[in-house]
Amino acid sequence: MKKNIVKTEAIEFYAPRTEEHEFVRGKTGLVFCKNCNAVYYKKSWHHNLRHYKNLAENLAIKFLLCPACKMIKNKQFEGEIVILNIPDKFLKELVHLIEAFGRRAYARDSQHRLIEIKKDKRNLIVTSTENQLAKQLAKKIKDAFKKVEEKISYSPAPSDVVYIKLMFLSS
Ligand SMILES: [Zn+2]
Repeated sequence: MKKNIVKTEAIEFYAPRTEEHEFVRGKTGLVFCKNCNAVYYKKSWHHNLRHYKNLAENLAIKFLLCPACKMIKNKQFEGEIVILNIPDKFLKELVHLIEAFGRRAYARDSQHRLIEIKKDKRNLIVTSTENQLAKQLAKKIKDAFKKVEEKISYSPAPSDVVYIKLMFLSS
């Protein structure tokens, strides 16, 4: 997975993913991501061509950035979790949980990615390509560590970026 530096203060809210809709119109074409292995067919992005059945056809082939790579390149994200006040004894386990979650999410869907896990003193900042991914990860962290308080906020419409703050409560 590619790691990019994401600066929260430099977010530009991105336009709807019109390119994706363009792909849908072309019935039999294939789109390969120029950056990762993702390939677009049957109306969604896949890790490879394993389930593609019509390889013998004369296909229109395009090379573009997949939405996830494009988002990362443009230093955008759809989910951000800021985890504060992490007790030293939990840090290693927490990072492990986050990395494992990221690997599983990407294995399930080529567009579901944790972009970066950034450490800053006793805090972590995690960014993701999907807002649902951030919400699921936040829930996992709360379930695993119990004494964690959560605050969720959204960027104004039409963008749907979710910002989650998790705070470890001192016992
Ligand atoms: Zn890609």
